[in-house]
Amino acid sequence: MAVEGAKPRVVVVGAGFGGIAVAAELLRHGMDDVTLLEAAAQPGGTWHRNGYPGAACDVPSHLYSYSFAQRPSWTRVYSHQPEILAYLRETADALGVTPRIVTGTEVTACVWDEGTCTWTVRSRRTGTEGLEEERTADAVVLATGQLDKPAWPALEGRFAGHSFHSARWDHGYDLRGKRVAVIGTGASATQLVPEIAPLVGHLTVFQRTGNWFLPRRDRPTPAPLQRLLSHSPLARRAWRRLLFHVLELITLCIRHPRTLGRLGTLLSAAHMRRQLPDPALRRKAWPDYPFGCKRVLLSSDFLPALRRPNVELVTSPIARMTPEGPLTSDGRRHDVDCVIYATGFRTNTFMLPMKVTGAGGRSIEEAWSDGARAHLGITVSGFPSMFLMYGPNTNTSGGSILFFLEAQASYVRQAVQLTHRTGAAALDVRPEVQEAGLRALRARFTGTAWTTCSSWYRTPDGRNVANWPGYMGEYAARTRQLDASEYRLIPRA
Ligand code: NAP
Repeated sequence: MAVEGAKPRVVVVGAGFGGIAVAAELLRHGMDDVTLLEAAAQPGGTWHRNGYPGAACDVPSHLYSYSFAQRPSWTRVYSHQPEILAYLRETADALGVTPRIVTGTEVTACVWDEGTCTWTVRSRRTGTEGLEEERTADAVVLATGQLDKPAWPALEGRFAGHSFHSARWDHGYDLRGKRVAVIGTGASATQLVPEIAPLVGHLTVFQRTGNWFLPRRDRPTPAPLQRLLSHSPLARRAWRRLLFHVLELITLCIRHPRTLGRLGTLLSAAHMRRQLPDPALRRKAWPDYPFGCKRVLLSSDFLPALRRPNVELVTSPIARMTPEGPLTSDGRRHDVDCVIYATGFRTNTFMLPMKVTGAGGRSIEEAWSDGARAHLGITVSGFPSMFLMYGPNTNTSGGSILFFLEAQASYVRQAVQLTHRTGAAALDVRPEVQEAGLRALRARFTGTAWTTCSSWYRTPDGRNVANWPGYMGEYAARTRQLDASEYRLIPRA
């Protein structure tokens, strides 16, 4: 039973950038009954899981970091995974979040109890079928991310050699001198291929769709910039502001494919032509959809890696897998020792990794049978005081996801405060508010580049359930102040 006057009990599922952001926000506002349940052995979320060679962020670190925990000393313009993970863990330590994280704990179910107006959160030790633990919470925050569950292609046949997914890298396997296949050419493949190409004997890269590229000059942070940022908070703010506006330009191009988008296309095409002087290879790698429909890849070393004598780009589709390696539909069998699936994540069904049951015993699967939806990507009607971090339609194709996470953390904190202040047990977004928001959101996709091809952002019937259709600034403006009239307060029993 929710206890009147007592501090709200909040359970956060996931201790990545999202979970840590919301926990830090609640703690900063005096709500310290917060527990984070993390399935992995260590906090860090995607940056703990994705340790493939070359894993890095293609958003500059001075923006891909919390505004409330800025680090002037980033060693590189685009930091690599170990530095980002260290930053996240150090920040969690400094803000008092770490002692509240329970690792190795997999949440199996979150169930809304109408009698007590609380959530029951069931969990067990990760990887076991053992006894379940139960916690009671006044609010739950699901911070499990959009990009957690690796997607494996449904290929007929079985490969007899070694294989693994890029998001679950096998660090025990020595790739040196081996014949390796990489399936997929998305953001992960783009980062790992240039790293492993010089090590392996032969590398075959299987591309289903070409991509648009923009340069990413990965280099140490220039010393004068680092000095300036270390000494001047004003310069730090100005630098973040500048990076923010530069990234908004990518969204500008995506939103206006027929006008400004053409400029993006020209810049990308010039970069790709420079990097692929051989017309035959260029033709193979070239995308066949408008700039910005899929994620624009920021890389200056992937295309040059394709030119190496030990690398082959294969664009004939994989017909099936054989014990020796992939067989492509042109009849060629590509014999390899190892297959690396850089095939992304299961995203557009958006099913959470645990059972979630809301008011009236309705499951989240039922609520989302027609596609994942949430008010501002955060609250779902019929699931009182349940909040999502990086929920439906809050991904960004150009900006920094951390900007969205901070906006969501502040919104969740306001919701918990409102509930507590008014003496209510919980709050629930009004269904008509959620539906009106969804209609407006869908209308914002019309005419944008996102609608011009299939991508992991979209359901098979074409709805974009992953991305925010506008600018980072718009999302911040929309979420800055929680509008209490959009919610129904549920009185205590
Ligand atoms: P992804 O972008 O979904 O790429 C998956 C790749 O696998 C695509 O090239 C896809 O081809 C291909 N593929 C899937 N099934 C296939 C099949 N059956 N046969 C052949 N190819 C197949 O996944 P990702 O590269 O892991 O990246 C996912 C997201 O993670 C990114 O969009 C980004 O948001 C995030 N990420 C960010 C960074 C960063 O630096 N910020 C780095 C890595 C990842 P199609 O294009 O034809 O579907």
